[in-house]
Amino acid sequence: MNVELVCVGTELLLGSIVNTNAAYLAEKCAGLGLSCYFQTVVGDNGERLAGVLRTAMERSDIVIMCGGLGPTEDDLTKETAAALCGRPLRLHEPSKKAIEKFFAHRGTEPTDNNWKQAMLPEGCTVLENRNGTAPGIILETEKARLILLPGPPGELQPMFQESVAPYLAALTSQVISSQTVKICGVGESKAETMVKDMIGSQTNPTIATYAKTGEVHIRVTANAEDRKTAAKLIKPVVKELKSRFGNHIYTTEEDVTLEKSVADLLLANGLTVTFAESCTGGLLSARLVNVPGISEVYKSSVVTYSNKAKRRLLGVKKSTLQKYGAVSEKAAEEMAKGAAAMYKADVAVAVTGIAGPDGGTEEKPVGLVCIACNVKGKSAVKECRFSGNRGQVREAAVSAALALMRRCILEYYSKVTFGKKE
Ligand code: ATP
Ligand code: MG
Repeated sequence: MNVELVCVGTELLLGSIVNTNAAYLAEKCAGLGLSCYFQTVVGDNGERLAGVLRTAMERSDIVIMCGGLGPTEDDLTKETAAALCGRPLRLHEPSKKAIEKFFAHRGTEPTDNNWKQAMLPEGCTVLENRNGTAPGIILETEKARLILLPGPPGELQPMFQESVAPYLAALTSQVISSQTVKICGVGESKAETMVKDMIGSQTNPTIATYAKTGEVHIRVTANAEDRKTAAKLIKPVVKELKSRFGNHIYTTEEDVTLEKSVADLLLANGLTVTFAESCTGGLLSARLVNVPGISEVYKSSVVTYSNKAKRRLLGVKKSTLQKYGAVSEKAAEEMAKGAAAMYKADVAVAVTGIAGPDGGTEEKPVGLVCIACNVKGKSAVKECRFSGNRGQVREAAVSAALALMRRCILEYYSKVTFGKKE
């Protein structure tokens, strides 16, 4: 089965909003084993919309449309689709009630045009919208199956998860299962080289690598008649990846992030933690605070952006700054030591770097970041060279700091070793 996406909205054509719905839907459909050959963006214009829809229904089994289900004049998707399929719009009582309830809950009155959203094509399947007023619609016609979803991502995504994904999964007899192996501390191109032979020789499961900021994810996806068979196909491949990447794998769980894996290590070992941040300006702290329950081990941190602050608040030596500069392994090490002492933390991580766009020299270019990690007095330091703009350098520095922290804690507590090459 194949699927085609039609995203409706003049705002999308003008570039005023980014088409994140297309990315979301395409990824989800691929995960369900549906091939997607076409994506179209069309403005809020009935004629052009009808043209696009006619073409899509001719060439695809399933057409997912998003946007233009709202109450206003320029919301034309449902009217156009219904007319094209020869299905008159009828008042759908449960949707009318849901709209009444939605407004009552907010303590406001619906306007006249809100009732337009309860007018639905004859013979359609209605998808409840728990986060807005426009219901989703499935229209099965001889040519194709049409799925209409609201534009706002906060409405579209839950509706897709709850109603559309099960509907699509039931259409195919095969199940698609996947597992992601998440790796840190290994660069993207190196990781790819390490699995190149596997990618080339595998068809089911397939292996795909995705570069994330400071991490690489390897997704193993199998196609089988049931979940159990798919899991059996995936298992040996994940095992092989584990043997190749060893301790660089921080998780194989879908919902575990790098910061969560680090937080789990801190919590499991009862280690308090603090940060001394320069170029990341608090981003590292913000990443760790993403993890609920971190207050057990995370108490405070410091942002020391100027040399003076590094000296005054962390006790970095004047001579170190003069001799090596603020962006140096030595300065990072002293920052981490100072923070550990000041905040009486078991683990202290310091980040200092040149985020750009200015401030780089030949010897110390933009993207140079020094990270130090101190675990109970034992310190490790790493010099990184990142590319990209200011935001990307700062994000990459945060991921590298988390990866270094994870590695230092593992080495300290579990006597785990990492590959020499790193
Ligand atoms: P509403 O009831 O809010 O009018 P709608 O179903 O009519 O919803 P649109 O009017 O097309 O949808 O879009 C509403 C908002 O949803 C847009 O302003 C935008 O913020 C978001 N949106 C719409 N389409 C997309 C898209 N393809 N990707 C990301 N966001 C989108
Ligand atoms: Mg709208």
